[in-house]
Amino acid sequence: MTDTSATRLAEVKAHICGAETAAGRPTGSVVLIAVSKTYHADAIRPVIHAGQRVFGENRVQEAMAKWPALKEEYPDLQLHLIGPLQSNKAREAVQTFDVIHTVDRLKIAKALKTEMEKQGRDLPCYIQVNTGEELQKAGIPPREADAFIKLCRDEIGLTLAGLMCIPPVEEAPGPHFALLQKIADRNGLTGLSMGMSSDYEVAIGFGATHVRVGSAIFGARD
Ligand SMILES: *Cc1c(COP(=O)(O)O)cnc(C)c1O
Repeated sequence: MTDTSATRLAEVKAHICGAETAAGRPTGSVVLIAVSKTYHADAIRPVIHAGQRVFGENRVQEAMAKWPALKEEYPDLQLHLIGPLQSNKAREAVQTFDVIHTVDRLKIAKALKTEMEKQGRDLPCYIQVNTGEELQKAGIPPREADAFIKLCRDEIGLTLAGLMCIPPVEEAPGPHFALLQKIADRNGLTGLSMGMSSDYEVAIGFGATHVRVGSAIFGARD
């Protein structure tokens, strides 16, 4: 187990490097977020020891249980929230995470801003876009994205790092990545959080700056 996650991490990093080169992008231009959800600290440690410092979690409660101790041990760890956020968890989210990928409605944007001011923290935020317009999926619909980006940036005053999407599982991801890139471009946003274990190399071809990879590193989840 210990060896496998470190070995898999090395493989994923090699694939990222290959995809960067294939896309004519500089080596090291893509940030790997190792998604450790459902895995305990004991399973995360070998990946930290192998040099990984950027991690993603999708639940505030779970992250609060695992990460404060790890962060004390490794002060250079960076934790990204990649799952849906409830406004009543904004305080804990701002305390626990360093980057938020899932801003998708006004109430959340406002709650995050209020908490960041209270805590004196300014977390880079991504707006989640529901590129497939799936009913069960979080994210702002593409046609509302421009207005929501402006609102978050100019009126609420969030520090926007970019956009995030999760393409529908049953569709080819390319067109969804292309759409996210187009919306980011016309809004002057540079960060693109897209690509998971099954499609991160494709996402890099479409300009992903951050890929969120879980099972390809930690193994299949239950
Ligand atoms: C779980 C999760 C991932 C990682 O998924 P894998 O398929 O295990 O790589 C990426 N992004 C989000 C939003 C997730 O919830």
